[in-house]
Amino acid sequence: MIENTDLSVLVEPTLTWYEANKRDLPWRKDKDPYHIWVSEVMLQQTRVEAVIPYYERFMTALPTIEALAKCQEDPLLKLWEGLGYYNRVRNMQKAAQTICAEYGGQMPQTYDGIVALSGIGPYTAGAIASIAFDERVPAVDGNVLRILSRVSQDDSDILKDATKKRMTAQLSQIMPKEAGAFNQALMEIGALVCIPNGQPKCDLCPWQPFCLAYKNDTYDRLPVKTKAKPRRIEEKTVLLIQDGQKIVLRKRPSKGLLAGLYELPNIEGYLTEEEALAFVRGQNLAPLQIKKLPEAKHIFSHIEWLMQGFLIQVADVDSFQQDEDLSKGPQDYLLVDIDKTRKEYAIPSAFDKYAEFIALHRMD
Ligand code: SF4
Repeated sequence: MIENTDLSVLVEPTLTWYEANKRDLPWRKDKDPYHIWVSEVMLQQTRVEAVIPYYERFMTALPTIEALAKCQEDPLLKLWEGLGYYNRVRNMQKAAQTICAEYGGQMPQTYDGIVALSGIGPYTAGAIASIAFDERVPAVDGNVLRILSRVSQDDSDILKDATKKRMTAQLSQIMPKEAGAFNQALMEIGALVCIPNGQPKCDLCPWQPFCLAYKNDTYDRLPVKTKAKPRRIEEKTVLLIQDGQKIVLRKRPSKGLLAGLYELPNIEGYLTEEEALAFVRGQNLAPLQIKKLPEAKHIFSHIEWLMQGFLIQVADVDSFQQDEDLSKGPQDYLLVDIDKTRKEYAIPSAFDKYAEFIALHRMD
């Protein structure tokens, strides 16, 4: 158990190992809190190698907190396209607006100030406060919980809040003055050495002399995690409605899953060809041809979409809502030029399989 392990012995070897082994990453070139913030939010979603091009593109477009605060919603979502979890970037923008309104555009310099901002939880606040301002606070995520479970051979369920609180408290007691380097070292050990899938690289690990999981050969049973609830299955029919160089898109509601993004029209349940055609006629469109598309699946954290699709060629779309008319107010369905779709509308990756059929290439 972690209570029985003296974690203070880890500090010096961890810092020494980090100095020699840290990766040269774009957000480590300085200690700018904005850079750390953006990178940490992106890293919650995918691996370092995948994040780098997104990070660089984001920083080129929005180099300051002020630029993020002022960005229009559609280009902001487009910058996030491919990363998923769009609410995270929306929350970042809200926090950026608060920073501009209340802190003169500068990130607050304490953990308490940072964690009070929209969408910033204890992990990200700990990372920013420690790396940018050397505040002695931990930054505990699933990777840190895994490596602590192993080194102390702690079989508590790391998905329980009580376990996280206990491990965070233990780490708080040993935080060195080089808090930013120490937290980054823990992240780096979790990413490079004591890895989540596959065999940990104990021979390269600075903790090997103290590690109980290594000593007792129990690392493959740790950490302990309760099984997640099964995902809810939703069946859908996706319609690729096309008129020459234009396709029909729909804006999703402003709240809930994939809020505010543009999607290919879709209907709950599996429609027959006749039902799909009737739906299209119901939108005042004249279908010319229909073709069945392959089935597709997309997995969100709590929901799984099982999709079937139809490509439907239509005619006489003049009366239909054109995308230029968006300025007139919120619209459900709109007709958009395919090239413009590629450049300006953020389509969630859930529709990738069907987007292929209209040469709607995503950048990731
Ligand atoms: S010695 Fe092995 S199991 Fe222990 S922390 Fe290091 S990599 Fe993980």
